[in-house]
Amino acid sequence: MYFLIEKFGILNGWALGALFVFLRYTTFAGLAFMIFYVIWKPNFIKFKIQSKFPKTARIRHEIQHSAYTALIFASLGIGVHFLKQAGFTKIYTDINEYGWGYLIFSFFLLTFIHDTYFYWIHRLMHHNKLFPILHKVHHVSNNPTPFASLSFHPLEAIVEIGIVPLSILFIPFHPLILLLFATWSLFFNVMGHLGYELFPKGFVYHPIGRWFNTATHHNMHHARSNCNYGLYYNFWDTIMKTNAPDYQQTFEKIKTLHNY
Ligand SMILES: [Zn+2]
Ligand SMILES: [Zn+2]
Repeated sequence: MYFLIEKFGILNGWALGALFVFLRYTTFAGLAFMIFYVIWKPNFIKFKIQSKFPKTARIRHEIQHSAYTALIFASLGIGVHFLKQAGFTKIYTDINEYGWGYLIFSFFLLTFIHDTYFYWIHRLMHHNKLFPILHKVHHVSNNPTPFASLSFHPLEAIVEIGIVPLSILFIPFHPLILLLFATWSLFFNVMGHLGYELFPKGFVYHPIGRWFNTATHHNMHHARSNCNYGLYYNFWDTIMKTNAPDYQQTFEKIKTLHNY
């Protein structure tokens, strides 16, 4: 969001940034909601992870807290703007400086850094002392919809996004990659909170597929709170043995029950 601040000044840039984040969220989550919870609900019902549907008040909670998160994420842009002005960041604008190979590599690097950060910070936020302050708001959704993708307590939103300003202090990133990363992260989050399992039967046993998290994986985290802490990849949950013991069976059951 820092480029909006560079272009439109702090206040206007911040407001535009918040609007951009919120509109991107309502587009992704709203589209997913319209498809899976309204228009084609009967067609997709066979892929539903939990058979019940959340009440409207829960969905309102998810949207309200996501709006707060948009304000926080836009505020981060101000911080990045000042860090960049002071010459502390490694953001670069000429792709040729590091080449296209590095550009592509830096995207995957950022997803891996974020995944690692998220896993450990997420486990920390499940500590008895921290959970009520930071993470309870997100877990109000024990049967999440796509609108839960940014539904955080404002303090959790700061913690969640904190890895981005930290990373740009030490690692060169092109603004395109930062934008692509933010959009990919939201897309994955909407998928994780979809409430429907779209990956095919056997995905969690596939030699490549098993390293990616699924909607079932994160849905089980919301339902139980004591397992499945990872974000994009199943790397840390596998290493730390924090996958729900019946994760793969639950995934396969959803698929088998519906003969998919
Ligand atoms: Zn969640
Ligand atoms: Zn959690």
